[in-house]
Amino acid sequence: MEANDWTSPLDDAGNWWCEHTNSHGEPAPPTQLNAAAAQPEHAPGVSSVRRSRLYCPDCGTLWRVWPDQYLAKYYVTYSAEEISSIPSWQPPRFRHAPTRDIDSIIAALQETFPTLAVTQWQYVFPADDDGIWWFDLPERKNAIQLESWSGMCPFSVDSDAYSGSTVRMAETVEAAVHLIAESFTTVSKKNTTLD
Ligand SMILES: [Zn+2]
Repeated sequence: MEANDWTSPLDDAGNWWCEHTNSHGEPAPPTQLNAAAAQPEHAPGVSSVRRSRLYCPDCGTLWRVWPDQYLAKYYVTYSAEEISSIPSWQPPRFRHAPTRDIDSIIAALQETFPTLAVTQWQYVFPADDDGIWWFDLPERKNAIQLESWSGMCPFSVDSDAYSGSTVRMAETVEAAVHLIAESFTTVSKKNTTLD
């Protein structure tokens, strides 16, 4: 998988396509998005790099847009809190395609940890490597960090709960899910003991 697989070129009118599957993983119609509908990330003049963001209405995926470079780039994020704060929120009818291991890891954890929040690093430039995710529960103090430029296994896994500077490797989705679940559970127990 190439690094530029995260990005899509904009056409002259500022359009690009968000590719989809249905909930069974079968191909579903793509949605055309437009840069004019995206919200600026910063007030003009704050940064020399114009960029904006929008969520695909059909799959909920966050896209960042660099209109001067005719590029859009998507991110893998999840927030149970954000979803529950939208009164009329409905599950998206489609999933973004292609699905990466990071998507599978989030899907495997969101039922066990209903308050799960996952954020992805967002650098200034579209060519930057944004392949860092933080898995967090609001009741926890420290997030666990997964790193892989492609969003695919293997991931390096790091947590403040790990002693010293030990970074662990997750070679499979199951191993990553296990390490995150273990970290969440361990810290919860520790907090309970301290209370
Ligand atoms: Zn979409």
